[in-house]
This record gives sequence, structure tokens and C-alpha cells, in this order.
Amino acid sequence: MALIVQKYGGTSVANTERIKNVAQRVARFRAQGHQVVVVLSAMSGETNKLIALAKEISASPDPRELDQVCSTGEQVTIGLLSMALKDIGVPAKSYTGGQVKVLTDNTFTKARILSIDEASMRRDLDAGKVVVVAGFQGVDAEGNVTTLGRGGSDTSAVALAAALKADECQIYTDVDGVYTTDPRVVPQAKKLDVITFEEMLEMASLGSKVLQIRSVEFAGKYKVKLRVLSSFEDEGEGTLITVEEDKNMEQPIISGIAFNRDEAKLTLLGVPDKPGIAYHILGAIAADNIDVDMIIQNVGVDGTTDFSFTVNNSDFARAKGILDKVKSELAARAVIGDNSIGKVSIVGVGMRSHPGVASRMFKALADEGINIQMISTSEIKISVVIDEKYLELAVRVLHRTFGLDRAD
Ligand code: ADP
Ligand code: ASP
Ligand code: MG
Repeated sequence: MALIVQKYGGTSVANTERIKNVAQRVARFRAQGHQVVVVLSAMSGETNKLIALAKEISASPDPRELDQVCSTGEQVTIGLLSMALKDIGVPAKSYTGGQVKVLTDNTFTKARILSIDEASMRRDLDAGKVVVVAGFQGVDAEGNVTTLGRGGSDTSAVALAAALKADECQIYTDVDGVYTTDPRVVPQAKKLDVITFEEMLEMASLGSKVLQIRSVEFAGKYKVKLRVLSSFEDEGEGTLITVEEDKNMEQPIISGIAFNRDEAKLTLLGVPDKPGIAYHILGAIAADNIDVDMIIQNVGVDGTTDFSFTVNNSDFARAKGILDKVKSELAARAVIGDNSIGKVSIVGVGMRSHPGVASRMFKALADEGINIQMISTSEIKISVVIDEKYLELAVRVLHRTFGLDRAD
């Protein structure tokens, strides 16, 4: 008998028929003698709809109230699944994040989980019940409802699996595993049987939304056995996220390609080239809780330099406003903003032992006439910022260049 946490994403619970299918799958696992905790997302599109409603009321909704609204989608699906389970003779009980309780900090809209009280879930499991928990949500020390950021149900599932010391955390979604790149953009993408945590972390943080990055961090930290599978197929082992590289296997140089359309680039031209400038600029940005991704400072010429960085598109307008102020404080020449950029990244632990990967990447892009605006590298990834309109072309070209296309 194993304890399994299963998470079903939005498309897997998109309507009542699919919810009934999920109930059947859960029932099959239980019939095999396993204890099952289910974590659910809202029906697909529901969270977007709730955010849109909030924005109809207020251009920048109060974050506490936004979480109050956005967390409701998951409350619907957990109730419906528990009913579906009971209807087929499986005892079940639903819990909101607050009822579990999933204690978080109070950073509304992107709260972090601090602790999980597993006592009541354990009691239900021991009594033979399936426990159904709302993903994406928690509660802070004052009892306020919080949410964990878009795609946060993955993180709820892994955190519950860690707290319960589950044997496996299974993420059921609308693809049958993690692919070399988004199979909806590159039909030739291949499913990976295994991928290391290190690579999955990079893929997730660089834009592959199949797993929320925090879920991968959590799984790595608490050694949760994590698997991505299809909720629409009964066969298949999905993709296992592993701690160890398989030393017996020849590692591919590149395991996957990630991309992200959600970034924007900001440049401050002609800033004085002296100590404290990067701090002055980025300190002001950080003070407003805006995350910065790539940063480039040019070589100084004639006592001035140019400074560029990228932020999430949703922070673009705010960041630009801050830079306009910083520009006058530093007597810089101009602020330029560009929110039609995209970032494409190649990821692979095999890069460590293979020189020349960057030049192959740059040549492939040059051959297509794609201009590189920014570059950033780490030991196992290379990212470039390019014009958004070439993003999908770049992904396809790199997928082919690094031998990732399926043979058939
Ligand atoms: P869910 O609603 O189940 O959480 P998501 O839409 O959040 O599902 O994540 C699954 C989607 O992630 C897939 O439909 C696919 O388009 C996308 N995706 C992006 N990169 C990858 C990748 N490397 N492998 C598999 N899917 C990917
Ligand atoms: N429903 C939330 C979202 O759409 C959480 C999730 O699906 O993981 O972001
Ligand atoms: Mg998701």
C-alpha cells in the first residue's frame, strides 16, 4: 500500500464529465489498496475569468481581495469531485487550503507555504477516505486567504506530498509528460522518460509552465518523487523528475528548450559610470517588489554607460515609471522600453562537458537572420532575448539544431 498525492490541472477538471473521469481514476488507485490525496485546480479558464472580473471592477485590484476572489475556482472543483467520488461508493472529504491548513506568509497573489498541518488528512486517510484538497490556496497567520501564484496547484501538491511523506506525487495534466519543448509549439518535440531536478528547475524558471517552478524547488528540497502524467490516457509512465543524472547513459548535450513571451526589456541610456549606479537603479525596482531577470551593463565610454534589464510584462508599466524617475535623479539620457521581446533558452546538464554549445546556438539563430538582443548563461543553460515575432521560429530551429526533433 502506498500513499499517493495526485494533482489534476484545469483541463483535467474542465467539466463535470471530466471530473467524473477523475473520480474513476482515483477509485481505481484506491481499489489497488493505495491511500490517495487529490489536489485540484479550478476548471480551465476559471482563474482567468475571476481575474478579469476583478479587473473590470478595479484596474489594479487590492491583492488581498484578489486572492479572496481567485481562490474560489478551486473550492468548486473539490466539492464536485468529492460528490462524484461518493456517488461511486468512495468515501471522500474536501478541504480548502485554510481547512487543511496550509499556512503561508501574507504575500498575497504569490504567497509561500510555511507549514502544513497533516493531522486531519491523516485521520481521514486512516479511516479509508480519499482526501480532496484545493490547490493554489492557503491561509496566512491572520486567517486571510492567500494564493500561491499562477500554476500554484503544482506546488500545493508537492508540498502536501512532502508533509505527508507520500510515496509519489503525480501531476496529471493534458500532455503525457515533460517534453523536449512545448509540444503545442513544436509537434516534433519528444517526451522525456526522465529529467533531472536541475534541468526541470531551469525549464520551469525559463518558461515551461508544465510545472510551476516552486513545485520543482520543493520536490528537490524534500526529495519528493515527482512524476508528470496524462489525465486522458491510462497507459504510460509519464516523466519522472530524478535527483541523479544517469551516469550509465550518454547524456544528450541539450535536454530541452524553454521559451517565455512574458518578459519586457528596459534600458537606461547614458548613466554615469560610477560606483553605486546598479544599486540605485535596481534598488528602486526591488523596493517596489518587481523581480528582475536578465541584466546587462555596457562597457563605459566617456564616463557614461547603458544599463538594460528585463522584468515580467505585468510589471513593465510600473518599472518604466520608476526608471523615468531614476533617469532624472541620475541625469541619464533616456529610458527605452520594449515589451515585444521573447526569451528562448537551451537547457542541459550535458553542456558542462561539451564546449562550443553557445556558438552552435548563435550560428543557428544567425543563419535564420534572428538578432540577439541579450544573452545570459549559467552552467547548464544559455538564454537569449530576441524579437518576440521570431520566438517560435527560434525554438523550432534550435530544437532541430540540437538533434531533439523526433525521427518520424
Ligand atoms: P494544468 O492545467 O494541468 O496545470 P498547464 O497548462 O499548466 O496544465 O501545463 C501543461 C502545458 O504545459 C501543456 O499543455 C503544454 O502546452 C505546456 N508545456 C510547456 N512546455 C512544456 C514541456 N517542455 N513539456 C510538456 N508541456 C509543456
Ligand atoms: N487555478 C490556478 C491557475 O490557473 C492554479 C493552477 O491551475 O495551478 O493559475
Ligand atoms: Mg499548471
